[in-house]
Amino acid sequence: MSGVPSLLSAAWERTLDLVFPRRCVGCGVFGAFLCPACLSATPRAQPPRCRVCWNRYEGGDACFHCLQQRPAFEAARFPFAYEGAVREAVHALKYDGVSAIAATMAEAMAGFLTAWGPPVTALVPVPLAARRRRSRGYNQSELLARELSRLCGLPVNGGLLVRRKATTPQALAADEAARRANVEGVFAAGPKAEPAGALLLVDDVMTSGATLDACARALVAAGHGPVYALTFARED
Ligand SMILES: [Zn+2]
Ligand SMILES: [Zn+2]
Repeated sequence: MSGVPSLLSAAWERTLDLVFPRRCVGCGVFGAFLCPACLSATPRAQPPRCRVCWNRYEGGDACFHCLQQRPAFEAARFPFAYEGAVREAVHALKYDGVSAIAATMAEAMAGFLTAWGPPVTALVPVPLAARRRRSRGYNQSELLARELSRLCGLPVNGGLLVRRKATTPQALAADEAARRANVEGVFAAGPKAEPAGALLLVDDVMTSGATLDACARALVAAGHGPVYALTFARED
């Protein structure tokens, strides 16, 4: 861990621990929101995988899907399969207001990012619709990006990408075509600022990759990129 202070001050964390003791979302043990035992018990997204979308693929190089319709991002990666305690952690962050679990999730993402080593110079969280952000109180992707930034030292460029309208959650879309249509024209990026480097999109979960693709497309269209993407998990 670096010496940079966390988003929550130590004193405030102690106060929160008294009122809402940390409890693992996986096994219920006290002391952590996501305990090391549960995290290591969750399947990692191990190769063989497509080098572009990181989906299971044994044929080497890129999967047929990526060859057919090349995503606008160079490569997407995620350390975990979306199951067990990892799924519970995402659920807690997204729907139960457990924003502090983002620090633990980002720690796992930071370790993975260091091993992966894409040539990125800034982090870009996937934006949330204003209405959803208001009702949740925060954008979970932004929290992950901020914690990741604290751990790996890359700046967060939060204003670069905007969401122009709300969409239904990608997980509810019927199929791949519906997911693509759902995010068509939804994202827009600000003009290129100097110096522009490679960007890393940050999100909690990758569904089909259509959202990350749409975000990357908006960034590339505005002159940014190349774009890489990192999420905490993906349905495997
Ligand atoms: Zn646990
Ligand atoms: Zn692929």
